Amino acid sequence: MSSVSVRPWPAAAALLCLSLFVALCLSPERAGAVERSRRGELKRVLVLHSFGREFRPWSEYARDIKAGLEAQSPWPLDIQEHALLTARFNNPGPEAPFVEYLHSLYQGAMPDIVLSIGAPAARFAQKYRARLFPNTPLILSAVEYRLIDRADLRDNDVVVAIRNDFVAAFDNILRLLPDTKSVAIVIGASPLEKFWIEEVKRELKSFDERLELVWYSDLSFEEILKRASALPPHTALFWGLMSVDAAGVAHESDIALRSLHAVANAPIFSYQEPFFGDSTVGGPMHLVGETTSRTVSAAIGILGGADPASIKYEPIGFGVPKYDWRELRRWGISESRLPPDSEVLFREPNIWQRYRWQMLLITAVFLVQAGLISGLLHERRRRRFAEVESRERLTELAHVNRYSTVGELTTSIAHELNQPLGSILTNAETAELLLKANSPDLDEIRQILADIRRDDQRASEVIRRLRAVLKKTPFEVKNIELNDTVREAIGLAKTVADGRRITLTYMPFQTELHVKGDPVQLQQVILNLIINAMDAVSDADTGKREVSVSTLRTGHQAEIRITDTGPGIAAPDLENVFDPFFTTKPQGMGMGLAIAKTIVEAHHGVIAASNQLAGGALFTIRLPMAR
Ligand code: ADP
Repeated sequence: MSSVSVRPWPAAAALLCLSLFVALCLSPERAGAVERSRRGELKRVLVLHSFGREFRPWSEYARDIKAGLEAQSPWPLDIQEHALLTARFNNPGPEAPFVEYLHSLYQGAMPDIVLSIGAPAARFAQKYRARLFPNTPLILSAVEYRLIDRADLRDNDVVVAIRNDFVAAFDNILRLLPDTKSVAIVIGASPLEKFWIEEVKRELKSFDERLELVWYSDLSFEEILKRASALPPHTALFWGLMSVDAAGVAHESDIALRSLHAVANAPIFSYQEPFFGDSTVGGPMHLVGETTSRTVSAAIGILGGADPASIKYEPIGFGVPKYDWRELRRWGISESRLPPDSEVLFREPNIWQRYRWQMLLITAVFLVQAGLISGLLHERRRRRFAEVESRERLTELAHVNRYSTVGELTTSIAHELNQPLGSILTNAETAELLLKANSPDLDEIRQILADIRRDDQRASEVIRRLRAVLKKTPFEVKNIELNDTVREAIGLAKTVADGRRITLTYMPFQTELHVKGDPVQLQQVILNLIINAMDAVSDADTGKREVSVSTLRTGHQAEIRITDTGPGIAAPDLENVFDPFFTTKPQGMGMGLAIAKTIVEAHHGVIAASNQLAGGALFTIRLPMAR
């Protein structure tokens, strides 16, 4: 009889190979984790999600908790995650196969801790813990305290619950928008959402008088979008939850909220931080950070050997109210309406904050430019002031000079006045004699009276011209006709010329020459040049004693030429004749031509001295024609 003897060594080796094979088959990470666990370091965490890994708000809690665990754990962690898809459905499907799957997965390799995120996951964990992980500590996180099955809590359970305060959330809407008449509540149709519909209705009883609550729980999301785009005024939207709509369509992540925000014609409010930042106005809300820090510290404590029963937390209420600046602006909500301790986020930087350096640079350039401009303006004012000053001085000097010029004319003027006055006297005496006759010749007397009037006018004309040239007036620019202005000056000089037996001729240009200028000052210049010319002619030994004045037009300029038959100007003196105090005359002052030059230049003109080929000096004045 043969017997089969089983040798202990090959049997043990086969068992070891089998267990290794099973471990490797599970997954490469698990195999690695098992390996590290053997080294006594690795901690295994099982995370149970409620609807799916990307379902807000829980996805945000889960991400934060995982990051916190990884950052704070002194041990290497093996985090396994499973999502409870069955919670999405209105009629939860059979959970048994999922439970069995988990059972076979973790049997013999129990996690060190089980972490549920959200209410459906908490309920599942409580319900199946006896079968799946009877002695493993359980942390029920991010779950509203009303949804915890308190009767089924064990000693190695830790609850990190939150407390929804719908009254505070709706108070916030009325605080920000006191005219709100109705609030449309966006909520899905999963069992969890149905629970909340009843809870919210109960909690908001006190608002019955002030607000009309419109429930969108029996609408497809498509229909909700349609309604939200055409809401009546004074309506707000309240984003509850949208995991599964009435049509049975699941809405992952925050895509649903974003599409609502894109079409809604009313502001959207919510009480969950994970929904804040893109679409909602804000207010008091659950802050992820608080739940995370409690969950992480509980988990690390338990993994380090702490007794779960010793870790007790009160439900976490809403945190400090937060508001989205962009939404406040969009809906015209004044920041003065916000509660005093609130935080306003997402402020758009103004142009100064955004382009600080560029703006500072531009401002600096502006300031420098403004400084330069004001400096230049100041300089310009000073220059103007100086110009006015110098013009006044010029006027005064010119006036004094006119006196001296006219002084030179005194003898001839007296002579010119004497002549008509003498004629008047003779004529008056003759008329008296005629009147003594028995039958006076009235025609003769009439003739004599006409002569008297003519002589009187002649005398008056001399006095008028004299007064005109001597009057003290400020520099005054007028539109003048140059031919007439020159003629007037000639009129004054004529008698002097006659007295000195000098032929003074004048040839005006055939058409009028309009220039802008001060007639008195221009006459002074002409008079000065004529007197100088007469002086030169008087000194000359030549027989011809002639001074001629003419006006003409060259291009856009009017020209006055004064020539004489004198000896001309000595070549080296040509450069100096316009210098102040330059004179070759024993009694001369040497100021006449210097003043003439200043006056002409104040008229934007030029004055030049030269000698004629035939002898004698030629003075030319050019003035711009008036437009
Ligand atoms: P003043 O008549 O007191 O000398 P002006 O400035 O009028 O002063 O003239 C300066 C000098 O220019 C005169 O002394 C003279 O030498 C010269 N001058 C001016 N006009 C003539 C002229 N037509 N012919 C020759 N020399 C002249």
